[in-house]
Amino acid sequence: MSRARAGLVLFIALAIGIGGCGSSGDSEADRSSVVVVGAGAAGLASARRLADAGISVIVLEARNRIGGRTWSYDFGGETTIDLGASWIHGTHPELEQLVAELSLETVNTDFTNMLVHDTSGGTRQIDDETVADLEIRIGTRVIAAAINDAKASIQSIIDRMWQDNVLADYSFEFIQYITTMFFETEFAASSETIPAQAFLELLPPAGEPTEPGDDLGAKNTAFPHGYNQITDHLATGLDIRLNTVVQRIDYSGESVQITTDDGSYEADVVIVTVPIGVLKAGRIAFSPALPERKQGAIDRMGSGVLNKLYLRFPHVFWEQEPDVLGFSAPERGGFAVWHNMEKITGQPILMAFTSGQSAIDIERLNDAEIVALAMERLRGFYGDGIPEPIDYQITRWHSDPFSLGSYSYFALATELGDRAILAEPVVDKVLFAGEATIDRAFAQVPGAYMTGLREADRIIGWERFPSQR
Ligand SMILES: Cc1cc2nc3c(=O)[nH]c(=O)nc-3n(C[C@H](O)[C@H](O)[C@H](O)COP(=O)(O)OP(=O)(O)OC[C@H]3O[C@@H](n4cnc5c(N)ncnc54)[C@H](O)[C@@H]3O)c2cc1C
Repeated sequence: MSRARAGLVLFIALAIGIGGCGSSGDSEADRSSVVVVGAGAAGLASARRLADAGISVIVLEARNRIGGRTWSYDFGGETTIDLGASWIHGTHPELEQLVAELSLETVNTDFTNMLVHDTSGGTRQIDDETVADLEIRIGTRVIAAAINDAKASIQSIIDRMWQDNVLADYSFEFIQYITTMFFETEFAASSETIPAQAFLELLPPAGEPTEPGDDLGAKNTAFPHGYNQITDHLATGLDIRLNTVVQRIDYSGESVQITTDDGSYEADVVIVTVPIGVLKAGRIAFSPALPERKQGAIDRMGSGVLNKLYLRFPHVFWEQEPDVLGFSAPERGGFAVWHNMEKITGQPILMAFTSGQSAIDIERLNDAEIVALAMERLRGFYGDGIPEPIDYQITRWHSDPFSLGSYSYFALATELGDRAILAEPVVDKVLFAGEATIDRAFAQVPGAYMTGLREADRIIGWERFPSQR
């Protein structure tokens, strides 16, 4: 039961002189055919499809907003920025069709249009030739390791390449930057914790083309008015209970009992779409406990961290043409990878990514310290004359209690096939969706969206589940 409704029940009880101080937990459970846990892209996609098929569905969301890891934010009344996902990377026909139907304004970002500054004052435009050369040199070693030494970390492979003189044409700090940009930012994890094998799950099944979702590079669709335009559309007319934290899912009986911090719910089936970080931390108790096979996959999967820092300046002082600005240094991580958000927002805004352990360390600092650290990096390259930011926004996805990380990644303990196990239903009563439960398009909104549709279609396909139109 929602907080608002519980309040109403209490008010009526007191007004007619019965009951006393009952709480929402004392009242009868709200019932629907399906309960969806989480109102992110996956949860909303599944609820939308079920509702459209005439199946009653309630969505329980812990936060006071929908969207989950899509989070469009009004930045000082001047423009919208996305604190979670920003782009549709590559080609994803289903989501692109929705974008076209909604006539959303889009801007393309070319991630390969990148200018890298180095500490000796030089710059290097990343061109196709450099990308191809690095892909061949590093890619060959990574794929060889994936086959012969699957758990070798990306960092150990790169260290070995230095020893073998394979990277001698590049500076050490440039390769540190490339490692931060192409591995750590991509996987939201430190290169010591990503095994070579992680790349195998990105490959399409034999005979299939390398899309959708694999062409991370030139085609990246951003939304100047925010990604939440999509999730808001999906949510239209749905029964969504905000501020409702699911604590326990009991599937031992005929129906499923869902206990929240604000009352109980009952359903024939529950679809769990909470982030992998939330599952790993055991924030939802399952009764009976999840099968060992499922729990094992949850334990083995990584929950990576990618954070964003947005800085709004009085005017643009950086190069206007590149989409991505790199600032290399002898150390990996830190504020190395920046996006020229002027191109998307039309405002003098820069956005920095931090990732892996470096992101976790930075997010523990206070706001002033984080902004100062980022400004120190920028001043090191643009000089002391650059202006102070007039506004900022910082994300802390690692400590966010309803995310506990930014997205899943294939960690050293992860096994091929774990995502398929994460997607398996438990006794056809507890279903799982969300970005971690899909191959190749994991860690992406289109992937999350597809998993929501997948689980809704699973239910719609069940004979025992006639629609209730
Ligand atoms: C900084 C950042 C940048 C990203 N950039 C991109 C990008 O550019 N492009 C891209 O495609 N993807 C990107 N991603 C990944 C993308 O945002 C996610 O893959 C996707 O949004 C996940 O959707 P989901 O529905 O699986 O999970 P979520 O959106 O996290 O939805 C799960 C919901 O469950 C709720 N919840 C958690 N615990 C409970 C509980 N106990 N009870 C009830 N509700 C609960 C959460 O509040 C949340 O709303 C980015 C992510 C981050 C963090």
